[in-house]
Amino acid sequence: MHDLRRRLAEIDDLERISMLLGWDQEVSMPPAAAEQRAEQRATVGRLAHELFTDDRTGELLASASPADEIEVDLLRVARRDFDRAVRVPAELVADRARAASDGRRLWGEARAGAGFARLAPALERHIELARRFADCFPESAHPYDALLDIYEPDMATTEVRHVLGRLRDGLVPLVGAAGGVDDSVLRDGPFAIAGQRRLVDDVLHAVGVEPGSWRLDLVEHPFQATIGAADIRVTTRYHERELESLFSSLHEFGHGLYERQIDPALARTPLQTGASSSWHESQSRLWENMIGRSGAFWRWCRPLAAAALPERFAEVTWQQIAAAANVVRPTLIRVSADEVTYGLHIVLRFELELELIEGTLAVGDLAEAWNERMRAMLGVEVPDDLRGVLQDVHWSEGLFGYFPTYALGNVIAGQLWARIQRELPELEEHVERGDFAPLREWLALNVHRFGRRQTPAELLATTFGTGLDPEPYLAYLAAKMRASASLMS
Ligand code: ZN
Repeated sequence: MHDLRRRLAEIDDLERISMLLGWDQEVSMPPAAAEQRAEQRATVGRLAHELFTDDRTGELLASASPADEIEVDLLRVARRDFDRAVRVPAELVADRARAASDGRRLWGEARAGAGFARLAPALERHIELARRFADCFPESAHPYDALLDIYEPDMATTEVRHVLGRLRDGLVPLVGAAGGVDDSVLRDGPFAIAGQRRLVDDVLHAVGVEPGSWRLDLVEHPFQATIGAADIRVTTRYHERELESLFSSLHEFGHGLYERQIDPALARTPLQTGASSSWHESQSRLWENMIGRSGAFWRWCRPLAAAALPERFAEVTWQQIAAAANVVRPTLIRVSADEVTYGLHIVLRFELELELIEGTLAVGDLAEAWNERMRAMLGVEVPDDLRGVLQDVHWSEGLFGYFPTYALGNVIAGQLWARIQRELPELEEHVERGDFAPLREWLALNVHRFGRRQTPAELLATTFGTGLDPEPYLAYLAAKMRASASLMS
């Protein structure tokens, strides 16, 4: 076990070094360094992959005998990762990586004016490679299962189809019931950048960002990176015209807190991360939406907002802000969508990518299919592909199977929120006082500390005694819409 643990620790080191190179690329690297940086990241990634899929790793995994419960879980997870990794030929791994960076570049060109036709051949190539990847797992019931498994271990396509179908059926009537809310208090800038920085700093400090183990930096597309158990990096961006920075910072904080509260005994092992992408997203959504858009939060935060941005918030009530933060309005762009319509943006992407993988939808018909479904589900007309099929980077990089985890994260957040409200009946009073410690501690105890020790399904079973269930999330949204309507009346 000792030799195995040392090897897994070195692999983890390499993977986090690669992440640090990626963080640096987004945050501080001079742009002209991009080409050599791509080589550096490819080298470190290849070393980690080779070390992991090496025959010697297989021998160590086969002969290791665990000394405690953590090692039992470590061995189970490492064996599973190894068995899946060695079934994919190195050549296919390299082809997918190359196709991802080519696709990303072509997506940029398509968006810069060349149009969807520039990206289409790259998408066809991705689909071919994705099917070859799925062929490495012939026991799967559906080719999409193998793609999903990268982000959601053991999740079946049939289950996602079922859960997202129920979500769609619950969301469509909520969109129809949305009334007109004046949300100008959070729109129609300017919001002074210096004031936004102050507000974001104040809020992050209060929710739990400790200066000794966290960083906050500026980027074009916000993300979170965990370089070590005490090196949690979140990023944000500031635009004068809106206050997105606050909600996006809370989102990335939720990801970071998950990683920060993992049992330190799991450091430098494959267990030192979240259970799955959906579980991770449930944490970011919980802080961004259940907390950051709640009335209790704004009763606490309004004076901070007024101090940081007096020209915007001195004369505004918490009710006005809370109502604006929860406005429901069908729009074209996923990343700026409200909580209710967001799920429908994801359902659309899931349905389309599933059809692409199944071969029932051709890349040539993708843009048209997108526009038709936006009309059917959200009632909006897509004026151009920039605000349609070209808006997200994911498909251009060959990421199929990832989109559903965004919606499943909301579903899990809804289930968590229902249980948290039962077990922390005084949460609202805590939040109103700016005391977030009880919530952090509850999350650490019930979710965070396990890292990957429990599978996503086990974590669902131990936390809720059931599987994925969209009902609590739909009930939360319906209650919120009723509350918003009464705030404005
Ligand atoms: Zn996220």
